[in-house]
Amino acid sequence: MINEIKNLVEKLNKYAYEYYVLDNPTVSDGEYDKLYDRLVALEKESGIVLDNSPTKRVGGEPISAFTKHKHINKLYSLDKAVTSDEVQAFISRVEKLTGKSPDYTVEFKYDGLTICLTYENGLFVRATTRGNGTEGEDVTKQVLTIKTFPLSIDYKGVLEVQGEAVIKLSTLKKYNETADEPLKNARNAVAGAIRNLDPKETEKRKPEILFYNVNYLSDGEFKTQTEHFEFLKKNGFKVFDFLEVVSTASGIEKTLKIIEEKRKNIDYLTDGAVIKVNDVSLREELGFTEKFPRWALAYKFEAEEITTTVLDVSWQVGRTGKLTPLGLVEPVDLGGATVKKATLNNYGDLVRKKVKIGCRVLIRRSNDVIPEILGATEFPSGCKEVEKPTVCPYCESPLVEDGANIFCVNLNCKPRVVGALTHFATKDAMNIEGFSEMTAGLLYDNFGVKKFSDLYALDKDKLLSLDGFKDKKTQNILNAIESSKKTQLPSFIYALGIDGVGKKTAKDLVKAFKSLDGIRSATLLELSSVKDIGDVTANSVYEYFSNPENLIEIETLINLGVTFESKNESVGDKLKGEKFVLTGTLPTLKRSEASKIIESLGGEVMSSVSKLTTIVLAGEDAGSKLEKAKKLGIKIIDENEFNNLINS
Ligand code: NAD
Repeated sequence: MINEIKNLVEKLNKYAYEYYVLDNPTVSDGEYDKLYDRLVALEKESGIVLDNSPTKRVGGEPISAFTKHKHINKLYSLDKAVTSDEVQAFISRVEKLTGKSPDYTVEFKYDGLTICLTYENGLFVRATTRGNGTEGEDVTKQVLTIKTFPLSIDYKGVLEVQGEAVIKLSTLKKYNETADEPLKNARNAVAGAIRNLDPKETEKRKPEILFYNVNYLSDGEFKTQTEHFEFLKKNGFKVFDFLEVVSTASGIEKTLKIIEEKRKNIDYLTDGAVIKVNDVSLREELGFTEKFPRWALAYKFEAEEITTTVLDVSWQVGRTGKLTPLGLVEPVDLGGATVKKATLNNYGDLVRKKVKIGCRVLIRRSNDVIPEILGATEFPSGCKEVEKPTVCPYCESPLVEDGANIFCVNLNCKPRVVGALTHFATKDAMNIEGFSEMTAGLLYDNFGVKKFSDLYALDKDKLLSLDGFKDKKTQNILNAIESSKKTQLPSFIYALGIDGVGKKTAKDLVKAFKSLDGIRSATLLELSSVKDIGDVTANSVYEYFSNPENLIEIETLINLGVTFESKNESVGDKLKGEKFVLTGTLPTLKRSEASKIIESLGGEVMSSVSKLTTIVLAGEDAGSKLEKAKKLGIKIIDENEFNNLINS
């Protein structure tokens, strides 16, 4: 057993060094936590705790390049739980130690870097990292590049506040699009940004700080965690807009579920929720262990990241001809599913992330799609470069390189055609119900169907001759093809599958140019001056409509009976300039219906409330969006007022 303990301590210390000091972990948090838990169990069983055991330490040592600074009060880590039973055990422990059934607060657990800010006489004086809990690194210069915290506050005593430095997921995505070396995840990105000797690099990554705790204040005291939040807000600190006070175990469970659902839609990396005893006097009774407060618990969500080995890389051809690398990886369990494949964006992405055959990579699960390779973590000997393809893996046509992408330019290449036909038929495009990728493949193989217009020339006998096509299925597909002819112009533009033109861009084009003819004859300059349409997309739209073959195909489709109501798309401009956010359940209208009405009257629908929002249409059970709108003083209307507005 002692050997296993030594082994684990050595491994965990190496991982902690890579994570805390280098901001460059080589294993996922889930993998680290598993080994850590094993060490805790062995230490408990044997009673042996080595001097250098990570179970004795909080975080990492400060690096010498920064000046060290002692915190007034120690900054602790959090004990963690991953199951309901463990949460229950925490509650029982608190009840046993205090002899009470206290209230708890439940908040998000952001995954970033702990930052401690010191204020004196109402002025910001210093920012430090948590470091080993007692002593952190002075990162004042770096933190001063962040615009989202107050430099002066109303409170005039000595104050230390604790927050989490984070980088928005959308900011990270944008940064990674052009970075020489993409950052693996938002946690490493922010840690590397703050613990960077060059404050310009900090600024470039646009971190922000969300506050959740007052670690020290010289005058005054708080009775509850809720008061901490109120104090922070009052003094101009940005806090996360969610703090639920609950008094029962089932209340905690319910809130954890809400947080787990909400986190899917927020722009920050979260790895769990934090449960805290609300009453500060009870906290004092409970106290701390060497590492954790006994009054708080981090409930960690199921892992979303894990490391594995790349066994091979294959190339997928999409509907635009773009080749996408697909990593075949050593099977690993991630969030209850076995992962065998993981994607990369394109060839350039593979090179920037240094992915090689045989190397270890960090992969991340994102909802139901194939996990993404975030970057290489280790290169065991024998790793091989991935060969850059020179011919299409399907049709063997020579490939063309354009920036980070490689394309098969053969318009008749099967995966291109099948992809384009399948996209054409999707719900938001021509909405041909029952038409699948398999149908497209069968039509390509058996009748050489390659163009959209070929679909409108299919007859019943042909379809009946296909494998698995009985009378009913055939008739259903034919009916769906027929009824797809009546469509809306944005759906049609989207269905064409022009590179870079998604649903929103298709709508923007229709809004700007009103008709198919308008879009068809727009100049490159006109296209690129449409709001939200970048040069690359403008160029691909322009090229698409400059290609005579595409124009002939569109004419053919129209001659075959495809019609759309371009004029009705924007029937007025009564709501022009208005930016709406919809929230809650409306009494009669569905939110999608209300959105359509707003857009048809020239208004815009946004997904979240910001200073740009002009009207919030709120129904029953409207939550945080309504709260935010109230705070920002944005006009809030109900369905009745909405009806008056559109009918006035
Ligand atoms: P932690 O990150 O799991 O939890 C404590 C921290 O949570 C606090 O210091 C604070 O910064 C943060 N936090 C976020 N929201 C909070 C809120 N609302 N209230 C209070 N705190 C909040 O613990 P830790 O000690 O910082 O790090 C340990 C963890 O780091 C491990 O469990 C592991 O997952 C990870 N780790 C990974 C590796 C690796 O190689 N991948 C190595 C070492 C550690």
